[in-house]
Amino acid sequence: PTSGPAPAAKPGLLGRIMGRTAEPRRALDDEMLESLEELLIAADMGVETALRVTANMAEGRYGRMMSASDIKDLLATEIARVMEPVARPLPIYRKTPQVVLVVGVNGSGKTTTIGKLASQFKAAGKSVVIAAGDTFRAAAVEQLQVWGQRAGVPVLTAPEGSDPAALAFDAMGRAEAEGADLLLIDTAGRLQNRADLMEELAKIVRVIRKKDPDAPHNTLLVLDATTGQNALNQVEIFQKMADVTGLVMTKLDGTAKGGVLVALADRFGLPIHAIGVGEQIDDLQPFDPQDFANALVG
Ligand code: GDP
Repeated sequence: PTSGPAPAAKPGLLGRIMGRTAEPRRALDDEMLESLEELLIAADMGVETALRVTANMAEGRYGRMMSASDIKDLLATEIARVMEPVARPLPIYRKTPQVVLVVGVNGSGKTTTIGKLASQFKAAGKSVVIAAGDTFRAAAVEQLQVWGQRAGVPVLTAPEGSDPAALAFDAMGRAEAEGADLLLIDTAGRLQNRADLMEELAKIVRVIRKKDPDAPHNTLLVLDATTGQNALNQVEIFQKMADVTGLVMTKLDGTAKGGVLVALADRFGLPIHAIGVGEQIDDLQPFDPQDFANALVG
């Protein structure tokens, strides 16, 4: 085991600006606002969103002398304000079974998120069925089966390479027959084959609508925080392929602070239903704008 001092915490956004000056207070002037903008952009917030946040900070306060902690609080408050309208848990409707289609690129954390969601809803007394709709990836199917066992939830599978829409249709039948509250459908995430994937997702939707014209009731897009700005492209791509109704951002337990979520909230206004903070079954949390903003500002 190594001894010695614990590693210093990674400086937050503000530590890096205020660290440059010995003055206890600084004016909220153009220089300060520009430094803040740069930091926000470097944190994946995007230019437009960074400008909006700093403009809101300056409103009615321009030129005011502020301490580092004043600026930090103000910045976190303004970021939280952008995020508040999108912080919404996954809604549960009366109508059952509620069908949730889960989309996202491979590796984003779809399988893991489905396992965590299944476990949470099961613990809340809901009956849940999972459909392993990524029938082309044997590993994804196996992993879902493991998650299903952990959560105590049945996982419907189909032979490798078979039609995911047929599986989704059967899963609807099973969920209805069992009186399940929730059906979670995993999907493929092969972005390199975009036209195929689009057709596959469209077919799943077409087929499940034969059972329930309102299905899917939610289409969750799972995004990986470590992909940074790329998350913006992924939202655009998946919105073209499916009617995305909400987001889950995974891997916020690592060094990635998910600044791109602020840009996403500002640009798309899609609800953020939950965040992934680890690989274990309980590592899915509701999205809390103030906690998120505080962690981002650091
Ligand atoms: P899929 O290909 O989209 O189904 O992605 P997986 O669910 O298989 O996840 C890909 C990898 O990311 C796995 O090693 C997961 O354990 C890991 N992972 C998923 N969510 C999180 C999270 O919130 N935090 C961390 N640290 N790892 C995660």
